Amino acid sequence: MNHFIETDKQFVANTYARYPVEIVSGKGSLLYGADGKEYIDMGTGIGVNAFGIGDPLWKEAIIEQLDKVQHTSNLYYTEPCAKLAELLCRRTGMKKVFFGNSGAEANECAIKVARKYGAVHRGDDYYTIFTLTGSFHGRTICTLSATGQEHYHEQFRPMTPGFFFADKNYPSFDWMNGIVDEFKACAIMVETIQGEGGVDDINPEFLRICYDVCKQKDLLFIVDEVQTGNGRTGKLYSYEHYGFEPDIVTTAKGLGGGLPIGACLIGEKAQDVLCPGDHGSTFGGNPVACAGAYSILSRIDDALLAEVNRKHDRVVAALDGNPGIKSISGRGLMIGIETEKPATEVIKACIEQGVLCLTAKHKVRLLPALNIPDELLDHALDVIASACAE
Ligand SMILES: *Cc1c(COP(=O)(O)O)cnc(C)c1O
Repeated sequence: MNHFIETDKQFVANTYARYPVEIVSGKGSLLYGADGKEYIDMGTGIGVNAFGIGDPLWKEAIIEQLDKVQHTSNLYYTEPCAKLAELLCRRTGMKKVFFGNSGAEANECAIKVARKYGAVHRGDDYYTIFTLTGSFHGRTICTLSATGQEHYHEQFRPMTPGFFFADKNYPSFDWMNGIVDEFKACAIMVETIQGEGGVDDINPEFLRICYDVCKQKDLLFIVDEVQTGNGRTGKLYSYEHYGFEPDIVTTAKGLGGGLPIGACLIGEKAQDVLCPGDHGSTFGGNPVACAGAYSILSRIDDALLAEVNRKHDRVVAALDGNPGIKSISGRGLMIGIETEKPATEVIKACIEQGVLCLTAKHKVRLLPALNIPDELLDHALDVIASACAE
């Protein structure tokens, strides 16, 4: 049965409201519980296991590197770190990559680059970073401070100063253009689709305004692609849907295919901001994590992205307009389902039927493996549709 649930409850910090499921193994888009039950994985560990469980090529790359050296520190050069940085730059046109181990760390780096850029180009008091209401940028004190959802801040104040939350429903160029001066901004940071904020598609017009204001005022335009990146939305990075080039792109989740890695990609404008000693991370650029990420990233090609988009249409066709479903949001295989029933009830019913989904605010959220087979996807969608309708 579920062997470790009680032990976990007793000894692991009480920060997660876990479902009563203990996972012991998996293969591809299937997970197996300690009670022997089989589940279709529609959450992939929150968009992390990009090619599912135990992807053979990813495993091979990791094991090959493990047999050489598992960690070196950043005092020395290693092939996987250099090759992954090169691939990220070649695929995006960005110039430099800083590696950390999580989304929050990728954003911490972006924040430091933006502050130093402001200090160098405008003066020490040009440190404010605009983020959007409803955003999520991480759980460290600084990235929490950047997160535009006050309820996360409660009882953890004081927050780090220097963040201003712009109303994502108020797209006016003149307002933005004026207020960035008033608050002495150095950057604007956005998600294109707010994942934790409820799979909320940000109005493209507002994204364009943020971008244009950054261009006009020489601010850094930072796109947080921790969740939307690495093929998740049907492009390698979601900003490609909008036709603009960010100055900084942060990513994590799916990049490592299941191992912890975060990356802050720095474009031409800010490529020389960081100097030796400015930033660092003991585990950052770990050769095993980088070897795995290289395997993942090199397979997110046009053919795979076309599949992601085809599967998106399949999801919409199966769910949109069904009884109990109010709306569908998101792109590619990052999907939000607004349900009539509380999302948690839908999730529970799905678990009963062997399908694991996520929530995002009041929505059911799907982040299946980018290569989920059609049969499993279709079966999971049947289960979800009936859970919403009942
Ligand atoms: C998950 C997430 C983060 C935080 O990533 P961690 O790896 O949990 O630190 C930051 N930004 C966005 C958009 C995310 O979805």
